[in-house]
Amino acid sequence: MFGERITDAAILAARGAKNLVDPFRPYHMLVEPEWSADRVVEDVATVFLSNRECPFRCLMCDLWKNTTDEKVPVGAISEQIRFALDQLPVAQHIKLYNSGNFFDAQAIPRDEFQSIAQLVAGFRTVIVENHPKLCGSACVEFQQMCGTQLEIAMGLETSHEPTLSLLNKQMTTDDFARACEFLCANDIRVRAFVLLRPPGTSEIEGVERAIESVRFAFNCGVQCCAVIPVRAGNGIMEQLQVDELFSPPTLTSLECVLDETLSWNRGRVFADLWDAKQFANCLNCVDERIQRLHQQNLKQALLPEVCCTHCL
Ligand code: SF4
Ligand SMILES: [Zn+2]
Repeated sequence: MFGERITDAAILAARGAKNLVDPFRPYHMLVEPEWSADRVVEDVATVFLSNRECPFRCLMCDLWKNTTDEKVPVGAISEQIRFALDQLPVAQHIKLYNSGNFFDAQAIPRDEFQSIAQLVAGFRTVIVENHPKLCGSACVEFQQMCGTQLEIAMGLETSHEPTLSLLNKQMTTDDFARACEFLCANDIRVRAFVLLRPPGTSEIEGVERAIESVRFAFNCGVQCCAVIPVRAGNGIMEQLQVDELFSPPTLTSLECVLDETLSWNRGRVFADLWDAKQFANCLNCVDERIQRLHQQNLKQALLPEVCCTHCL
């Protein structure tokens, strides 16, 4: 385990350079299918907005890489969304992901909420990311402006309190629970991000704690959880890896967590499969395993396990 908590300064000092982003263009955009709250597969557009870097310094976060140092001008975010909607195929739902917190006034200018709301009003769900400590009346007002279902995606990360404190997230599980209570009371849906094997966690603890974290999230009123295998890539995580305080989880652990939490039928659970090949320890079955996880994400059902003669 860690000797002492890693400071903001140490996390910042370990960083490499940022990518150059244009304040008037999203840095990425895509449409992908997702099993919806209405229990059908529908298309979700994701617009990765370029905006000012998040003020939090979470240990595992690499989202700062595609952010600006300064607040973007009023009008820039609407312009990015307009640009993305012109390019992307039609979708039923939209994620406006800003590498930080949508309700951080330094990130998304409040003066733009009305124009953003007009642009996304035609979607059945508008999904934005936010820190539990930044969930207040602005969320309710934004849902009213959009006139559609707002869903707020929050990083629970882990319900294991000592690990949560190591992650430098500046919140407790009580903060997360309070934010969920507030949002649910205002008919705003909640999605949670749960980490698989954060630093200072063994493989088996990683699996158990991710499962417990999904349970905690559902108990808080969350309707949808995304389980994210922790990766290196932001500088400090590589240092922790060298010091043997962090190892990425295996694909098998991700399968265990998804299989267990889907079997509860308590809400949607998605395995984050971005670059998932790196977590595999058998090249013979990796594609089949990732395909099974992808299908489980889409169907929200348990599928037959992959049998491999190479890695029994
Ligand atoms: S709050 Fe989210 S975006 Fe900000 S540092 Fe933490 S994980 Fe990254
Ligand atoms: Zn295998």
